[in-house]
Amino acid sequence: MTTAADLFALQETDRALDRANERLAEIEAALGETEELVEARQQAELKRQAAAAFRSRQTELEWSVDEVRGKAAQVESKLYGGTVGNPKELADLDADLRSLRALTRTREDTLLGLLVELEDADSELRSAEAVCSGIEKEWQEGQQTLLQEQSQIEPDVPRLEAQREGQAGGIDRGALSLYQLLRERRGGQAVARVERGMCQGCRITLPMSVLQKARTGLGLVQCVSCERILLVS
Ligand SMILES: [Zn+2]
Repeated sequence: MTTAADLFALQETDRALDRANERLAEIEAALGETEELVEARQQAELKRQAAAAFRSRQTELEWSVDEVRGKAAQVESKLYGGTVGNPKELADLDADLRSLRALTRTREDTLLGLLVELEDADSELRSAEAVCSGIEKEWQEGQQTLLQEQSQIEPDVPRLEAQREGQAGGIDRGALSLYQLLRERRGGQAVARVERGMCQGCRITLPMSVLQKARTGLGLVQCVSCERILLVS
């Protein structure tokens, strides 16, 4: 004959199994990259691209400054080299030199401005990378903890399932189906303890007749209010 204690023991196993499965589902959902991490990585990547764009512009500008400086040097050596005597030609060379020097200054100024921007871009990149690696570190630690917990809980499931099978095997068909029905209807709790004459499932004070019947341990007695199977210990 199935007793309330048998069903209570089965319920303990079922609840442990529910808890293990719920926690495993939570862990499953929490594993993987977080939005925060993805966002931080994207930010760092954008800053990296911005700094790289400034750097390639810097190379171009340096090259263009060198180019115009080289041209000015050529004109200068022609102008002062003594090989040109024609005053008109000398005046043209002089004008060319002035305009090349002016262009050099303009390009140098642009380059200087760019270097300032590059420095800002680099510093933004460094801080974005620092934020990202901080988030990444925390995330990795969190994932590690979750994986550890997962590996601890996982073996519990087959163990509890086997235990449940053994327990359920010794329970009457009718009692088992009443238990299942109540578990579905009463949030997983089909069996309630009785303490100081009170059903611990719904906190109602039980009539003396019900209490006496439950105390005999003969047959299953249900709470008059919540219908849970009563266990008097
Ligand atoms: Zn009750």
